[in-house]
Amino acid sequence: MAEPKDVYTIQDLRNWTAATADLEAPARLAVLGDPVAHSRSPQMHQPALLAAGIACRYVRLHIAPEDLREALDRLREADFIGVNVTIPHKNAVFEAVDDMTDVARRIGAVNTVVLDDGQLVGHNTDAPGLRRAVREAFSMDLTDLRIMIVGAGGGAGKAAAVQCAMDHCERLVLVNRTVAKAEALAEELRDLMNAPGRLEGPANRLVAIPWEERAMEREIDQIDLIINATPMGMKRSDPEVVPQRLIDPSHLVYDMVYSPARTRLMANAEAEGAKAANGLGMLLWQGVFAFEFWFNREAPVEAMRSGLGT
Ligand code: NAP
Repeated sequence: MAEPKDVYTIQDLRNWTAATADLEAPARLAVLGDPVAHSRSPQMHQPALLAAGIACRYVRLHIAPEDLREALDRLREADFIGVNVTIPHKNAVFEAVDDMTDVARRIGAVNTVVLDDGQLVGHNTDAPGLRRAVREAFSMDLTDLRIMIVGAGGGAGKAAAVQCAMDHCERLVLVNRTVAKAEALAEELRDLMNAPGRLEGPANRLVAIPWEERAMEREIDQIDLIINATPMGMKRSDPEVVPQRLIDPSHLVYDMVYSPARTRLMANAEAEGAKAANGLGMLLWQGVFAFEFWFNREAPVEAMRSGLGT
């Protein structure tokens, strides 16, 4: 019996039974993206399936944007249990599903699909994945924190911001290079930030600012948790997400980037005496919640964690 190919394509999906005939268990779960060869999702989901005693293979599907609609139909034909969705398809899948959760609707993006009697149901597990990862890294809940999200114009930043607002966090500062996107998001979240029991209204608790040192400096002494939701930090030549001089020992720093495992932002934070964590925890927990939506049972978290090597 063979191991799955590193990556399957739309051609394979058109004749899935033949393309996967040599596997010892049916391939009925996948991560769908373009590119997708780098995805670490099989590393955590295959050990989870093994630990749970589920005879199923989890594979990578490289699907170009123009083939996405067809691919979703083919998943139904091939009797898939579900898929994870990664770049660049999270918004397009949001448009294509038959139904979705409120969280996915709020975020406008789907990263997990459950096939339920041929219906595609969309979820977003990035948002609760971040919440759980922050709790695990810092023993703190979003609800109790004053939070700054850098990169509030992207999909991951929006997922984080929606979760923070749904949890009625103490304060939310949205930072973005293109400030108009952060301002638009702040408007969208204003009703969610209204929470009974908060002394200040949403105007004081929800702020959008440009990604500029002076603007961040004005806000950062009223911040507990700094989240990087930009891709900055993946390359050595990337600029600082937050200038090191603005970070102090009381800050918690969550970097969604996990490659490299210790980013420049994390190194700077730790040099200032602050606590820092990378995005592997978020990757793990979004996968845990996806598994639980597919199988309606508790996920074997430790098998997934060791699969990821964390
Ligand atoms: P995206 O949609 O491309 O968002 C990019 C965001 O970063 C935008 O706000 C953008 O600002 C900002 N940005 C990009 N390059 C910048 C630069 N050079 N200077 C300043 N701002 C810049 O990406 P995404 O899908 O949201 O993902 C963001 C990061 O989170 C990626 O590294 C991704 O791998 C990571 N991520 C991790 C997890 C996890 O599980 N750990 C999950 C999801 C995403 P503008 O709006 O001005 O363009």
